[in-house]
Amino acid sequence: MRAAVLYAPVPAGTSYTTARPLVIEELDRPKPRAGELGVEITYSSLCHSDLSVVDGSRVRPLPMALGHEAVGRVAAVGPGVMDVSVGDHVVLVFVPSCGKCRACRAGRPALCHRAAEVNGTGDLLHGEALLRSRTGERINHHLGVSAFADYAVVARESAVVIDDDVPDTTAAMFGCAVLTGMGTVLNTAALTPGQSVAVFGLGAVGLSAVMAAAIGGAAAVIAVDPNEAKHQLARDCGATAVGTPDDAPRLIADLTGDGVDIAVEAVGSAGVIASCLDFLTRGGAVVSVGLPNPSAELTVPALQFAGAGKRLLGSYMGDAVPERDLPLYLGWWREGRLPVELLHTDTRPLAEINEGLDALAAGHVVRRLFRA
Ligand code: NAD
Ligand code: ZN
Repeated sequence: MRAAVLYAPVPAGTSYTTARPLVIEELDRPKPRAGELGVEITYSSLCHSDLSVVDGSRVRPLPMALGHEAVGRVAAVGPGVMDVSVGDHVVLVFVPSCGKCRACRAGRPALCHRAAEVNGTGDLLHGEALLRSRTGERINHHLGVSAFADYAVVARESAVVIDDDVPDTTAAMFGCAVLTGMGTVLNTAALTPGQSVAVFGLGAVGLSAVMAAAIGGAAAVIAVDPNEAKHQLARDCGATAVGTPDDAPRLIADLTGDGVDIAVEAVGSAGVIASCLDFLTRGGAVVSVGLPNPSAELTVPALQFAGAGKRLLGSYMGDAVPERDLPLYLGWWREGRLPVELLHTDTRPLAEINEGLDALAAGHVVRRLFRA
C-alpha cells in the first residue's frame, strides 16, 4: 500500500512544494484484526487540521501517516465484525467511539475518552499501530484513519456505511468538514428557526456551518472571511450577508441590531473567539470549533457570561453522533438542500499532496481531493 508519511514538522511559511514534508511510501499492507476493517480508499481530502500537524502547531507522535477525511470501499473484514461486508461504501470518521466510556454512555461519542487516548498515541481503537515502514519502523495512525493512502486498516467504529450511489468526490468531505461544521450549529449551538448566525472563517468547516444555519431556518446568516474569493461561495451555501472582518461590526448591527444568537469561530484564532463574544446578543453563544495553537490564550471581559448570559461552547467533531447525523445530512444532500459539492475545489493525484498543503495555506482551495 502507499501512504503519505510525516517524519518531522516543517514550520508554516515554508514552501511545502519545495520542502516536501509528506513522503509517499510503500508500506506492507496490514490485515484487519478483530473489530477492524481494511478499506480501499478512493478519495481523501485535505483539512486545515492536517496542515496544523505538518506545521507542528498540532503536536502528534511522528512518524505518522496523515489524513483523516476520506471515503472508500471495504476490502477486508476482521474477525467479529458482523454488520459490515466486503464492498460496502464507507465514509471514515476521526473519532472511533468505544461506546462504553462516560462520554459515549452520555450520548456524546465525539468526546469518547478511549478514542481521544488512542488518537493521541497514534494507535487504533482495537490495538497498537499496525503500519510499519519497509525498514520495520512503527508509523503512527492519524486519528484512526490515515487517509492519504490507497488503503487503511481502521476500527469498525471509524466507518459509517453509506448508500452506494453517493459520488465519492462528495462523500469524502462528509467525514470531517460536513459532520463538524454542520454539527457546530445544529448540535452544539442547537439552532432554533429564526435565530441569527455569524460564521467566521469560510473554509470547508465554516461553509458547512453556513449550510447548517440556512437549512436550520436561521433568519440571518452572516459569513465573514478576509479572503474575498470565499464570499460568493458563502452566498451559494446560504449566507444572507458576506464580508471581511472589517465589515463584520456593520453587517451584524444592520442585520440584527444588537448582535447574533450564534457566532461560529472556524478559524482557530483566540483573537477571533474574543471578537465573536463581542458580536453576541444577550444570551447568545460562541461556538469554538477552529483549533488554536496550544500556546494561545484567551483574555475576555468576565462579566459578560453571568451579566449578559453569554456562553462559550467548545465543539469537537460538531458534537456529532456519526451514525445518526451522516444519514440525516446525506438525506438533505439527496433532496438538493445541502450543496456539499461547492466545497470541492479540485482533485489531484495523491503524489501532489505537498502542493495541496501550499494551496490550502494560501487559501486557494476549500477542499482539494486526492485520488488514491
Ligand atoms: P481553512 O484553512 O480551509 O479555512 C480557514 C478560513 O479562515 C480561511 O478561509 C481563512 O481565510 C479564514 N480566516 C483567517 N483569518 C480570519 C479572520 N480573522 N476572520 C475570519 N476568517 C479568517 O480551514 P478548515 O479546514 O475549514 O478548518 C477550520 C478550522 O477548524 C481549523 O482550525 C481546523 O483545524 C479546525 N477543525 C476543527 C475540528 C473540530 O473537530 N473541532 C474539525 C476539523 C477542523
Ligand atoms: Zn478535519
